[in-house]
Amino acid sequence: MFLILDALAAGEGRRLSSLDVIGAGPRAIAGVLEMFGLEYKIYRVEDFLRRGARGFRVLLASAMTMDEPAVKRAASRFRGVKIIGGPITSDPSVVPRLGFHLGVWGEGEVALESLLRNGLSEGEIPSELGSIPNLITGDGTLTRASNLSVEDFRRFQPSVTAIRFYRTVPHYRSSRVYVEVVRSCSNFNRPKIRASKEMCDLCMACYEFDLRKRLVCPQGIPPGCGYCSIPALYGPPKSRDRDSIVEEVRGLAEAGVRRIVLSGADFLEYGREKLVSGPLTHPYEPGPNVDAIEELLREIKGLSREYGFFFEVENVKPCLVNDEVAEVLGRYLRGTPIHIGVETGDPEHADLLGRPCGPQESMEAIKRLKEVGLRPYAYFIHSLPGQNDKTVRMTLKYMELAYKHGAEKITVYKFRPLPGTAFEGYNVVVDRGSKMIAEKAIELNRERKRELLGAVIKVIVAPSVGRGNYAYPLAGGPVVRLKVGRKLKTGKVLEVRITKVLSDRLVEGVPVDRRSS
Ligand code: SF4
Repeated sequence: MFLILDALAAGEGRRLSSLDVIGAGPRAIAGVLEMFGLEYKIYRVEDFLRRGARGFRVLLASAMTMDEPAVKRAASRFRGVKIIGGPITSDPSVVPRLGFHLGVWGEGEVALESLLRNGLSEGEIPSELGSIPNLITGDGTLTRASNLSVEDFRRFQPSVTAIRFYRTVPHYRSSRVYVEVVRSCSNFNRPKIRASKEMCDLCMACYEFDLRKRLVCPQGIPPGCGYCSIPALYGPPKSRDRDSIVEEVRGLAEAGVRRIVLSGADFLEYGREKLVSGPLTHPYEPGPNVDAIEELLREIKGLSREYGFFFEVENVKPCLVNDEVAEVLGRYLRGTPIHIGVETGDPEHADLLGRPCGPQESMEAIKRLKEVGLRPYAYFIHSLPGQNDKTVRMTLKYMELAYKHGAEKITVYKFRPLPGTAFEGYNVVVDRGSKMIAEKAIELNRERKRELLGAVIKVIVAPSVGRGNYAYPLAGGPVVRLKVGRKLKTGKVLEVRITKVLSDRLVEGVPVDRRSS
């Protein structure tokens, strides 16, 4: 029996945020096991560390770089074959460091399929590994980095039934379940902070429209924004077939899922690769494939009416938000959150970071999406390479502007240098400016939450934590602490009136109809 260990966002072994998120990765692994008719279970790493698990021969762990402590503890308690994948393996040295036999780098479907075909389905590590792509051996050596072809990508179907393994925190009945619709990002610009200007002047690939020329940088700088590893790990974007996404969403809805996120580094990349003949390496030329996006949203909207689930899309790149696509998003996604990266308020800094769009374009996107009825969330990062007084001043200004244009939430992250990116190994300096950016977000978010006071919203009850009852707004928004006298069933939907702002992330709500409590 196989144990799929979902450690995504577990950090030290206790999730502090994203308590209502179920990522797409573990169900993708489950889908490959189902192709081979193999038995498996999915455990959240917290549950595994608390209760243990017996009777498994193979451990397949899925984790991010931040989850190293939890994964290390889990690996030390498992007797059997241990394999790790997910963004954490962008640094192949994690495999020996965390005590795994093998790792899967980047896209793992074909590597896992080859391992299963050659002995892993019997619980054995194949004797010959050299020919398997994207495999990290026990000493941390990567066999061969490769990206899936569009055809290979579409051969694999994520499992739907696997969702029922999520019965603790997060619980599938109350959580946002991510459905991958497009993989990777077309930003093959490079950060210029450490680039030689002379070589850039000779090359100019970052400013080219020739898609093939943009694939490789003569200076060896990985593609994409310096704080993001996606294009380097997954190559140019590729979209799933609409029918396959629809089938997955229908299956999840039938299983009882009530919140679905159509996920991707940029939802507006969906179907865009069909508009070009080469690899899609330009972040905004051509613009979005509006027909493909509309056809997908129309189908999902139909399912949401049939089954009564709520759905939203994940991120969009500001430079792909034009009037035409905004109008389509407004038609199908009115009232839902949408996530937009601004990251820095200084356009020169944005260019040095490798961003394809500056803060002004991000503001235009926020305005456009707000006008058509969406609820934009704006993202910023502090302590980035190149942060100085000017970038801080301009970032504070653009945070205010994003708020003024109607951003419902301002989220600030601290920069973390990721393995495999241009900023790998960068020293993170948290200075006074970083703190000012973080504090500005708290101030603006508190102000926005106050606007919720008195509003009646639909929420979905989360698993109880300690003595508290919590719920998530069905249409997105801050976590609601419920003022009720007894525990409520997970997944129950009710209306609450917001009565108090408890923090920049938490509000208090009282059920409107007391009989429902
Ligand atoms: S691809 Fe590399 S060398 Fe060419 S312009 Fe971009 S950063 Fe400079």
